[in-house]
Amino acid sequence: MLRIAIDGPAGSGKSTIAKILAKKYGLLYIDTGAMYRFAAYLMLTENMDFNELVESLKEKEITFEYKDGEQYLVVKDEIALYLKDELRSVEVTNLVSKVASNKEVRAVLTDMQKKIASENNVVMDGRDIGTVVIPDAEFKFFLNATLNERAKRRYKDFIEKGVEITFEEVLEDIKKRDEMDAKRDVAPLKKADDAIEIDTTGLTIDDVVSIIERNIGK
Ligand code: C5P
Repeated sequence: MLRIAIDGPAGSGKSTIAKILAKKYGLLYIDTGAMYRFAAYLMLTENMDFNELVESLKEKEITFEYKDGEQYLVVKDEIALYLKDELRSVEVTNLVSKVASNKEVRAVLTDMQKKIASENNVVMDGRDIGTVVIPDAEFKFFLNATLNERAKRRYKDFIEKGVEITFEEVLEDIKKRDEMDAKRDVAPLKKADDAIEIDTTGLTIDDVVSIIERNIGK
């Protein structure tokens, strides 16, 4: 099996790198952040409390599919729901760390992620992949970068998508989420002891991919 775990804070480059590795090694890319974002989206759009959210998540089959070269989170219910940009809204982003710190929500989503990783060769990114979801992954990486660099990257993404937001707002959001993700009781953002840490500050995407390829050795 080939399972690559990538953890790190917001804006550290996880998803960009994971997508490249998925293509190169023929792996399924699982964006676990999108799964927590879906939980927050469900809470907002269906007006649910935490008990209702947990029960609802248990009923759902969440997968990832490519359509026109873009990856969507797909929820299989009576009809399949394809989600992408909805999960990146400011409302969802503001709520997601609170939802992700709920023990029951984490238990349901972690079980789903473990099941996917036991049935597929994957590259999975998140905050607790190397520590909780796939502790026995063949390769583990922890990406990091300075707060300023991570905020700059996120700000550039927003501007390219035409979202009206200031650099200061992006910086504040990342700072707040970092704190909540690192301080929560369940599965806090943490480097696994055996993960290789890469500081991506000042590195290009190609630089980071090369470092990872060198470690994987093929
Ligand atoms: O990776 P992304 O920024 O989309 O993740 C959104 C949020 O989901 C994070 O800020 C974190 O609170 C939560 N998350 C988590 N565990 C993961 C992935 C994401 O708690 N494995």
